Amino acid sequence: MLTLDTVICDTPARSFVKNTKNHNAYHGCDKCAQPGKYINRRMTYPCTEYALRTDDSFETMADEGHHHEGPHPFHGSNVGMVSQFPLDYMHLVCLGVVRRMLNIWLRGPLNVRVPANIVQRMSAKQVEMRSHVPVEFARKPRSLSELDRWKATELRQFLLYTGPVMLGSFLDSNMYRNFMLLFSGIAILVSPRLSCHTQYAQTLLRSFVNHFGEIYGKDQLVYNVHSLVHLPEEVQRHGCLDSFSAFPYESYLHKLKKLVRKPEFPLAQIIRRLSEIKTTDSLVNGTAFKKQHFVGPVVGGLSVKSQYGEMTCDKWTVKVSARDNVFVIGNDICCICNIVECSDGVYVIYKKFSHKSLFFTYPFSSDYLNIYAISQTSDTLECVNVSELVQKCAVLPHRDGFVAIPLFHTF
Ligand SMILES: [Zn+2]
Repeated sequence: MLTLDTVICDTPARSFVKNTKNHNAYHGCDKCAQPGKYINRRMTYPCTEYALRTDDSFETMADEGHHHEGPHPFHGSNVGMVSQFPLDYMHLVCLGVVRRMLNIWLRGPLNVRVPANIVQRMSAKQVEMRSHVPVEFARKPRSLSELDRWKATELRQFLLYTGPVMLGSFLDSNMYRNFMLLFSGIAILVSPRLSCHTQYAQTLLRSFVNHFGEIYGKDQLVYNVHSLVHLPEEVQRHGCLDSFSAFPYESYLHKLKKLVRKPEFPLAQIIRRLSEIKTTDSLVNGTAFKKQHFVGPVVGGLSVKSQYGEMTCDKWTVKVSARDNVFVIGNDICCICNIVECSDGVYVIYKKFSHKSLFFTYPFSSDYLNIYAISQTSDTLECVNVSELVQKCAVLPHRDGFVAIPLFHTF
């Protein structure tokens, strides 16, 4: 039997299907009962601690000001109107807070606007990083002059990967530290490995919101910014951010659109096509190897059958060339030099980065996230079964060296 797990939508759609006031209303936060405050013609929610809404308080309409008159479409069902309508971080964080922050830096009040010559250098850095991002990223970093056309995935890439590496060189230290609070909180919540640390992420995101108001003005504490403090609780309930975000739907949307062949009954057409595909397609699963070669390097003790330059599996693509060859193995950052198929399994031949150091120390040491500034590899070749690869890393240029950042989010 099918059961409804969660309803994922953006903020206006969520208030529409719940029949509640929207996010610009005095009682607009759908997670807590904090009344909004009008500042500079914006509705803001300046407090980060307030009584939380519950499924019961929603059903009994304990806060009358939150609801429109009349029943909501889920009335009479067992759907939890607060617990099963999680906040979606694609809209809230990437398209919401990250874009707001970039807009303030580029076009905001003069006291917090980033000078035009610095913005130009930031854009140049973004463009320089194009040739360094791994193959898993469908979009490459773009210049800030194209910010209005940036998609949610590009804003996510900026928040989790390119931003933390480059912004320290360009922003005032207060602003950079504020950005790092947001980065750190979201990196924890998006990572399946770390997302159990919700309490810590809560502390980081609360600090971010409070500092954000101090730096950019209380009138910037709008719904999206305020709602960050509710995200850790959503993760506690539903798992890491990607398990209840709109990203998978958005990336699948163009495929769904192709299934519609005529204007009438689009939903019925999609369901019919999907069930056809399910029954006719056998699921092609497993690992694909490419670029067979015979040039090594290999290590002694392996009975090598074949050597390859590239391997793609469910999780990631491994290559022996730059951009896609750096992985976390054990506690080390390693550079893959060869992929070998042996009679008892597939192995990678690698060298460790012998010179690695912390990349940042605020709000915690970067090794907590396996992020390091790296320079040269050792000369020793080692080998390990591919199942031992822990995380793939993006290796991005930073000053005279490079920074390795594990790919936190789910692709
Ligand atoms: Zn709230």
